[in-house]
Amino acid sequence: MSSKDAVAVAADIGGTQMRAALVTRGGELLDRGAIDTHPDDGIEIAASRLAELVESLGNGNGNGNGRVEPIGMGISTAGPIDPDTGTYKNPPNLGAWDEKSMKPNLASRLKIPVQIGHDATLAAFAETQFGPHRGAQNLVYVTVSTGVGGGIIANGEMVTGAEGHAGEVGHITVIPGGQRCNVGCDGCFEGNASGPSIAKAALAHIDAGETTAIWEMAGHDRERVTSKVVFQAADAGDVVATAVREHAVKAIGIGLGSLLNIFDPEALVVGGGVAQGLAARWDEVVSSVKRFSLAHFQHNPRVHLTTLGDDVGLLGAAGLAFRHER
Ligand SMILES: [Zn+2]
Repeated sequence: MSSKDAVAVAADIGGTQMRAALVTRGGELLDRGAIDTHPDDGIEIAASRLAELVESLGNGNGNGNGRVEPIGMGISTAGPIDPDTGTYKNPPNLGAWDEKSMKPNLASRLKIPVQIGHDATLAAFAETQFGPHRGAQNLVYVTVSTGVGGGIIANGEMVTGAEGHAGEVGHITVIPGGQRCNVGCDGCFEGNASGPSIAKAALAHIDAGETTAIWEMAGHDRERVTSKVVFQAADAGDVVATAVREHAVKAIGIGLGSLLNIFDPEALVVGGGVAQGLAARWDEVVSSVKRFSLAHFQHNPRVHLTTLGDDVGLLGAAGLAFRHER
């Protein structure tokens, strides 16, 4: 087997699902699987179920010579997490795993080196390893989705911070006095641009008695008022929906513009459902970023939608395993 054919085991662990794949050095996913996480069963049971999933990968896909031996395993996980030990630190979606790590269990059972990283940081790392921004030494990845999170690569290194908390771009203040996020910050990026915050802003207009097509389109059901419905109503010319969308785009512009100013990245890559929902109006997002960034970004603000899709976590995990290959 030439080193070009080498594969890594990649895993992506979230609060509801654990995914695993065999990934080549070039970023091709050879085989993949997924299981439910069930975090409340405890980290030991989850680790052993993940190991079983990994052991099932690649079987029957070979040429009769047996399974390709992976060079190592990388794991992308929701955090916060200590990137050296893989120890979770009060993780909101994996609460039962606090102060515990999967790393020793998996390394001894699978008999390969195991590396663990925070999902947003590894998404940024994946963008520097695969796809159109491959080779970038400075890259910021921001997901605008149910929450707003980020990962930072600076001078070719993953920025993790003193205790693994770096990259919380969602909680920088962008609209002082604006909506609060679940954590309670006063007018942060997440509180003014995430999917739930867009829905909350729309509902505030509806509750104030303003007439808007959003309410009809959501079937008069508060639960169905989503960023997607707001964007659809705005596209149809609804005044309230347009105002809500413009507020979110302003918040995104301030947040991303500040990140551009601070990190001067080769690319600022944006993913997540809200960002994808703005794909058809990406020029407005770019204009907003320009408005809130310095003069040298005006002709090329370097803001791009991700092209790596849902596999960004697996690709980042694989990239981490290859980076630690001996
Ligand atoms: Zn916040």
